[in-house]
Amino acid sequence: MTATDTVRPLTAAELAAVRADFPLLGRTVRGGRPLVYLDSAATSQKPNVVLEAEVDFYEQRNAAVHRGAHQVAEEATAAFEDARSAVASFVGAADDEIVWTPGATAAINLVAYALGNATAGRGGADAERFRLAPGDEIVVTEAEHHANLVPWQELCARTGAVLRWFGVDDDGRLDLSDVGSVITERTRVVAFGHVSNVTGAVAPVETLVAAAREVGAYTVLDACQSVPHLPVDLHALGVDFAAFSAHKMLGPTGVGALYGRRELLEALPPVTTGGSMVEVVTMTETTYMPPPQRFEAGTQMVAQAVGMGVAAQWLDELGMGRVAAHEREIAAELLKITEIPGIRVIGPSDDRDRIGVVSFVVDGVHAHDVSQVLDDRGIAVRVGHHCAQPLHRRFGVAATARASASVYTGVEDVVAFREALAGVRAFFGAE
Ligand code: PLP
Repeated sequence: MTATDTVRPLTAAELAAVRADFPLLGRTVRGGRPLVYLDSAATSQKPNVVLEAEVDFYEQRNAAVHRGAHQVAEEATAAFEDARSAVASFVGAADDEIVWTPGATAAINLVAYALGNATAGRGGADAERFRLAPGDEIVVTEAEHHANLVPWQELCARTGAVLRWFGVDDDGRLDLSDVGSVITERTRVVAFGHVSNVTGAVAPVETLVAAAREVGAYTVLDACQSVPHLPVDLHALGVDFAAFSAHKMLGPTGVGALYGRRELLEALPPVTTGGSMVEVVTMTETTYMPPPQRFEAGTQMVAQAVGMGVAAQWLDELGMGRVAAHEREIAAELLKITEIPGIRVIGPSDDRDRIGVVSFVVDGVHAHDVSQVLDDRGIAVRVGHHCAQPLHRRFGVAATARASASVYTGVEDVVAFREALAGVRAFFGAE
């Protein structure tokens, strides 16, 4: 990425070329209407190169990785490990700091269960640093996706640790006005989302990492909504662990990654055990391989990992600075819905430190009804609590509708969305 990448959004011709690469964007819905896909925060569409990479893997290279002594197995292993390198370099990590997982949820659970195993005495002396005791504290935020909340609630229940959290202000940003009273000497883990999947707000990672470091707590970054939309350099951010999913970054479903700082992964006990992660097995005990293989028991999702690597390369070639610049423009277009009477955005209404994820409520109309009217016009948005019930409770709503962008979203998509949204209240007689 060059300095100009950070400022130059996509030209109309470049966007058209990008869109042409995504077959699904060309389809029609609901009686021939062109699809307006504004649900990329739930899952993104996939470019041809990703689809082709999976097919090519199965057609030409399909074999068990890390085991076979034949040519196809060697090629499969190379494709699998090359994909790991592509993903690692995409997020500023070393190859052996990337563990394949089925997704971000699995990655966060992996860390939480590994800490639990360390607390139960597994992992020997190396893992003692991870032990939790009753009264230790785990800090999260009120804005978390359930994937980065429930695993920590469970870990607290298993270890006697206590869960604490930062609230959010009326603008949907984390309230860090008194960081030092939440992150204290008792804090052992600080787990937080880089970007909220509801408000689109970017968290001040630097502040939270600095506060955690000061008290020797481990940081776990849920990077699910940042990696697909912003340049992310995990080494530069200084987090200890991070989780993200391929399917939100133009890659396949069923695969994601856990990033862990090398020295931490080396000391962490495994969670899922079995084949492919062991060195010596006797009838009574087993020694484990170093990371990342220690955390990759059983047959892996090889074709999907290969697809994730290609997705990372595709984004890298476009330049994440340019992706972010393009999506910033789309976010500004989305935020113009605040000009429609009766629309309330849940989250920052300015485009500073936020991405193109905009959740909203329509006065007098249930979110499900909003999405139905939009769907009738071919516009796909998400509706519900978006796996963030506490955040919705904070704003006094059970559900919101959410429009979310990706690199392939155009201004025309947003204009169609705004026009349809402007008619929703009248449709239900709610004006
Ligand atoms: N964290 C955030 C912020 C998300 O948006 C999501 C998915 O919606 C997840 C975690 C869970 O990701 P996955 O379902 O791919 O494991």
